Amino acid sequence: KESRARNRLPVLPQGIEKTRFFLAIDEISRDLGNDNVEINDKPLDDGWYMEPPNTHDGMAITDEEELVASAVIYPGSTDDVQSIVHWANKYLIPLHPISMGRNFGYGGAAPRVRGAVVVDLGKRMNRILDINPDDCTCLVEPGVSYYALYEEVQRRGYKNLWIDVPDLGGGSVLGNALDHGVGYTPYGDHWATHSGLEVVTPTGEIVRTGMGALPGNNTWQVFPYGFGPFLDGMFSQSNYGIVTKMGFGLMPNPGGHESFLYTFKKEEDLEQLVEIVRPLRIAMILENAANIRHALQVLALSGKPRSTFYDGNGPFPIKKMHEFLQTHPYGECTWLYYGTCYGPKEVRKLKLDIIHREFMKVPGARRIEPAKLPPTDYFWSRDRISSGEPDLEELAWVNWWPNGGHVAFSPVAPTRGADALRLWHMAKEHWAKFGLDFFFDFVVGLRELHLIVECVYDRDDSKQRANALAAMRSLIQEAAEKGYGEYRTHLLLSDQVAGTYSWNDNALMRLNEKLKDCLDPNGILAPGRSGIWPARYRGRGWEI
Ligand code: FAD
Repeated sequence: KESRARNRLPVLPQGIEKTRFFLAIDEISRDLGNDNVEINDKPLDDGWYMEPPNTHDGMAITDEEELVASAVIYPGSTDDVQSIVHWANKYLIPLHPISMGRNFGYGGAAPRVRGAVVVDLGKRMNRILDINPDDCTCLVEPGVSYYALYEEVQRRGYKNLWIDVPDLGGGSVLGNALDHGVGYTPYGDHWATHSGLEVVTPTGEIVRTGMGALPGNNTWQVFPYGFGPFLDGMFSQSNYGIVTKMGFGLMPNPGGHESFLYTFKKEEDLEQLVEIVRPLRIAMILENAANIRHALQVLALSGKPRSTFYDGNGPFPIKKMHEFLQTHPYGECTWLYYGTCYGPKEVRKLKLDIIHREFMKVPGARRIEPAKLPPTDYFWSRDRISSGEPDLEELAWVNWWPNGGHVAFSPVAPTRGADALRLWHMAKEHWAKFGLDFFFDFVVGLRELHLIVECVYDRDDSKQRANALAAMRSLIQEAAEKGYGEYRTHLLLSDQVAGTYSWNDNALMRLNEKLKDCLDPNGILAPGRSGIWPARYRGRGWEI
């Protein structure tokens, strides 16, 4: 709190002398304009979701000064990005690109290297370059949020087009996809629906991938592969380039949708439910990402803070959860399945009948009648999200604690009951051991299941923060010992997660490092992102 109140001296990138740093800042300010370069010397302000900070993580899990930018630069074009990259190479200044910086739970806008310069692409590069209603595609810059894309589709009256949104609509369409983010229509795997990138490499070349490499093409957004090696994957969850444009396929309006909710009584029901979900999901009878949530989140999504239900410390007592649910329209339960069917009524009915028949095989399963739920119920937020309408209601669970923050543990498993139960038991033991509250969501993408464990904490409570980090570290290690790896992680946990992908004497990381050193010989771009350190940093105490 003290650090927030006082004025701050800018944090310089390690190894860059102060005079040289300011000389470099003067140079880039002359090039891009003074208004487009900001030294980070003001008190750190955590803002909130709609006004996220671009200098640090607004939900810091360590002291927020630990992962803080020295300055922020706002490019207005791909050429500006190229100039910034040339400048960074000249002065050996580390850069950290963000699109909109709302990567909450994974480090927000914070750079992994203290004192790096944040390249905030979203502020000025925020144009929707194309929406094609015939091909159902779009091409966007980093600053286009889900809200902006949705509103533009509506404004143009393209009734035949849907977009896909994650739980919160304020993020960047491009930034979310680069971090392998997910949404909840059948187009929910955002990376999988992309087609075409424009990238500035760490040495300043501008490259278009796929059909974008063919001058005069009109196929950039309809065929992702082009000719030759498919390089796009190299630019996601990596530090091999700054993406300045990205294309996506958009879902055609399916002609109707209908959301549904089932509840399941016992913890152990998870095993049977997951076995039921797998074949239905792979066959696309369950058409959007399966969402099997633990019922504790219902309390947090009611918008009331934890203290209204229970004022004690330690993990939230399950008895209290059941007491609350007795008076809630969902009734007493442990798991909730939120899903949506798509298409005209008669098509939906066929699928909904199969789903009902299969789900009701779990003893004690109940279908909740949507018409009986009040319009304020969280169910309707899921309904909006699953039909491509951006929403913000999901933020409610972050405010479970005052000054709420969260960090996520996201292991991947096959969609099998035994695996789900194994992960559940492991996470539950940590829940009890670390004295924190966890929210659990088993999400089935198609064949794979991600368990998302959101650990919530009070950002002003250093003990809770330390416990949350310790719990995450312990979960990552134990999961890896059992053969489960994370699909995405907080930037402070990247080294640990990357270290678990160690088959054949860390062959994958050695290849990543070889690529890094070849593409970024000066090691200027996002050092440490996804655990990939350039030669200049390796083995010098940065890895944690
Ligand atoms: P950014 O923060 O801009 O980018 C993410 C990362 O990608 C950056 O840190 C950077 O390393 C890299 N990057 C960004 N732009 C570039 C670029 N142009 N070139 C190179 N690298 C780049 N996420 C989901 O996916 N699905 C959910 O359902 C979801 N639910 C959430 C619910 C809550 C309550 C909260 C708080 C968060 C949730 N999130 C979810 C996480 C997060 O908010 C979103 O993923 C969000 O879209 C990420 O932030 P952003 O889009 O602003 O991306």
